[in-house]
Amino acid sequence: MKYLVFTLLVFSSSAFAQTRLYVFDCGSLRLDSLAMFGLEEHESDVREMFVPCYLIEHARGRLLWDGGLPKTVADANGDVALTGGSMAYKTWIVDQLAAMGITPGQIDHVAYSHLHFDHAGAANAFVDTNVIMQRKEWDAAFSGSEGFVDTSLFDAIKPDNVTFIDGDHDVFGDGTVRLVFAPGHTPGHQLLLLELENTGRVLLSGDLYHTRANRRLRKVPTFNHDAGQTLQSMDKIEALLAESGATLWIEHDRALADTLKKAPAYYD
Ligand SMILES: [Zn+2]
Repeated sequence: MKYLVFTLLVFSSSAFAQTRLYVFDCGSLRLDSLAMFGLEEHESDVREMFVPCYLIEHARGRLLWDGGLPKTVADANGDVALTGGSMAYKTWIVDQLAAMGITPGQIDHVAYSHLHFDHAGAANAFVDTNVIMQRKEWDAAFSGSEGFVDTSLFDAIKPDNVTFIDGDHDVFGDGTVRLVFAPGHTPGHQLLLLELENTGRVLLSGDLYHTRANRRLRKVPTFNHDAGQTLQSMDKIEALLAESGATLWIEHDRALADTLKKAPAYYD
């Protein structure tokens, strides 16, 4: 009987028997031109980008990957001007999670592909969560030298709640949820590699590639920390894709996003 009680307790503490991946619509970007992505106008007809957030539920906890556009964009309730385009955001990620019955306090870890404003928008809502952060990204973001960084989006994060890393990192210690260091776009840029039982391996791109054309043509954006490093990271990631058989999801790919299930539906 004692044994039975023990097993039941252990079972109930593992809330998520199978790893799940949820995709959230965390906004969109409309652009007049793709010049800033290093592309000629004829090389891609993409003029709208998806902005995602992702939630991973693993037997050992929850991870939020990327934080979408800032809350102010959702609050604007319509198009917000952006140099050379506009952005919009229907429902703030924290409200989308609340609709699923999940509070920020129930998220165990957060990680960002990088700290540009369209990926760290909700960071200050997760200040009591363990933040897994590349040391180089954190240092560069506060150095004032990086464009597209708005420190007011993440300046409430307490350094005590940050787990600083330097390179690849196994989030839950079993190899199924891994941060893959791929610097260049920013000094601490990273991707997320997931192993899902039914879906297989999925690699979330961060901004290694903004569009399929960037991947096909190996083009680096003009707003980029180190082009040589980005090209090296592209080589690392293409080798990883070949070796792991993972499917690459380009996060900003609107055409891909339109085909994906959105939360509360999930991939497992
Ligand atoms: Zn981005």
